[in-house]
Amino acid sequence: MNAPAERRLRQQANQLPFANSFAALPPQFYTRLQPTPVPAPYLVGASSPAAELIGLDAEALGLQDAVDAFSGNAVLPGSEPLAAVYSGHQFGVWAGQLGDGRAILLGDVAADDPWPAGRIELQLKGAGMTPYSRMGDGRAVLRSSIREFLCSEAMAALGIPTSRALCVTGSDMPVMRETVETAAIVTRMAPSFIRFGSFEHWFYNERQEELKMLADYVIDRFYPALRDDPQPYRALLSEVSRRTAELMAQWQAVGFMHGVMNTDNMSILGLTIDYGPFGFMEAFDARHICNHSDHQGRYSYQMQPRIGQWNCFALAQALLPLVGEVEDAQAAVDIYKPTYDTKFEQLMHAKLGLRDTLPDDGKLFESMFALMQNNHVDFTLFFRQLGNLTLDNPQADEPLRDLFIDRPAFDAWAVQYRNRLRQENSRDEERRTGMHAVNPKYVLRNYLAQVAIDKAQNKDFSEVARLLSVLEKPFDEQPENEHYAELPPDWASTLEVSCSS
Ligand code: AMP
Ligand code: MG
Repeated sequence: MNAPAERRLRQQANQLPFANSFAALPPQFYTRLQPTPVPAPYLVGASSPAAELIGLDAEALGLQDAVDAFSGNAVLPGSEPLAAVYSGHQFGVWAGQLGDGRAILLGDVAADDPWPAGRIELQLKGAGMTPYSRMGDGRAVLRSSIREFLCSEAMAALGIPTSRALCVTGSDMPVMRETVETAAIVTRMAPSFIRFGSFEHWFYNERQEELKMLADYVIDRFYPALRDDPQPYRALLSEVSRRTAELMAQWQAVGFMHGVMNTDNMSILGLTIDYGPFGFMEAFDARHICNHSDHQGRYSYQMQPRIGQWNCFALAQALLPLVGEVEDAQAAVDIYKPTYDTKFEQLMHAKLGLRDTLPDDGKLFESMFALMQNNHVDFTLFFRQLGNLTLDNPQADEPLRDLFIDRPAFDAWAVQYRNRLRQENSRDEERRTGMHAVNPKYVLRNYLAQVAIDKAQNKDFSEVARLLSVLEKPFDEQPENEHYAELPPDWASTLEVSCSS
C-alpha cells in the first residue's frame, strides 16, 4: 500500500462521526468507563459488508490504528465509552442485576441502514471489566468471538434481523475458561443493544421514572410512528412482540437455535443478539438442544417460539406500570401468536416453493416435519435439495432421497408434495429459482466454525476469512466451495457448545 492510500485508510476509523445518544440518558442507565487495553492486539477477521455499512473500507480495519481502536487500546475521537445496566430472567428465573459485564458501548455512527434512524452503535465485546462484571473477568475468548463474528454476518446474509460484527481482534493474553484460552474482542454493531431486561431492571427496582425514560427513548429513537398512538407504551409492547414473533419464525425456518434466550438476550428491536452457544440444525430433531449447559432443554429448537412469547410476557410485566391495564398489556402481546403462525406459514410456503395457500397445506408441512424427524435428515440439505425436485421425473430425486433412511416414507411424502405442486400448476424452473433464493446452501455448521477456530488458535486466520466469504452468499451456488455445504464429518458429532465463552 502506498503512503497516501494508507493515510487515507488510517483516517477512516478516526473520522467516524461519533454521537453518543445512549449516553445522553441520565447516568443511572450506565457507567462511563474506558476499555481495558490488551497486550499486542492483532486483527483476526473483518467483515467488508459490515464495514461498508458505516462507510469504512475493510482494509482500513487491518491498520494498527484500527486494531488498537477496536480492541479497546485506543479511544476513537468523539466516542464516550460506557457499560449499560440491565437485569433479566435467566432460564426462567429472575436473576436480578446483570448489565454489560464485558461489553463497552463506544457510541453511534452514521450507517447505511434504512431502519430505524440511519445510525448504528458500536460495541466492543470482551473489552475488560465493568461494574457489572460480577464474577466474570470482562473478557471473551477467541473461540466464542469467532463464532459470534461469523454467525452475526451469516445471519445478516440470510436476511434475518441481527446485530452485525465489524471485526474481531485478538491478543495472546491468557483467559481462563475450562482450559487456558486467549482473549479476543468482537466489535458488534446494532441500532441499539437495549434488551427486554433493560426494562425489567427498572420495573423490579420500582423505578417508574427511569422505566418511562427508557421507553420514551426507545419510542422516539426507534419507533417514532408509535408516538401518535393513543397508547404509545401499549403500542411499543405490541410492536416488539410482533417483531419478536417474526424473528422466531425466521429462526425456525432456517433451523437456527440461539441457545440462551434469557430476557437479557432479547433485543427490544427484534434482532438476534448475544450469540453464545447457538447452532444451526443439522440432523433434524425438534427437541435438539444446542446449548450443552441447558439440561432441561428450555431453549431447544421446538421451544423457541414459545419462549419468545414467554419473554414478551416478561416484557409486558415490566411495561405494565406504563401500559396501565393488565388487559391492555395482554392484548398487546396477543399479537405474538397469530404473527408467528402467519410468518412461519409464509416462510414454509416459500421454502416449499408454493405460490398459493390451500387449506391442507398445514398437514403437508406437518407430515414433512414428521418425516424429517423420523429420518433425522439434515435440515439445510433437505430444503436445498427439495428445490431440485422435478414434477415428472422421480428418478432424478436420488440425491434428495439418499438423505433418508426410510426411502418408502420419503417416496410417499413426495407423492403428496408433487400432487400439491400440480394443484397450482407449478413450473420446475421457476420453483427451483424461488426455493434456492430462500433455502440456503451454506450455513454456519458447528464443525465449519470449529475448523476456522482451530486454525485461528494457531494464528492462521485464513479460514475465518474464507468461511466468512462463503457465508456472505448463502443462497448462491459456489462450485469451488461445494464441500462447505456437505454433511458434517463424523468427528463433528462430539462437538459440544456450552455457555462458556
Ligand atoms: P450471557 O449469558 O453471555 O448473555 O451473559 C450473561 C451476563 O453475564 C451478562 O451480564 C454478561 O455481561 C455477563 N458475562 C458473561 N461473561 C462474562 C465475563 N467473562 N465477564 C464479565 N461478565 C460476563
Ligand atoms: Mg447476554
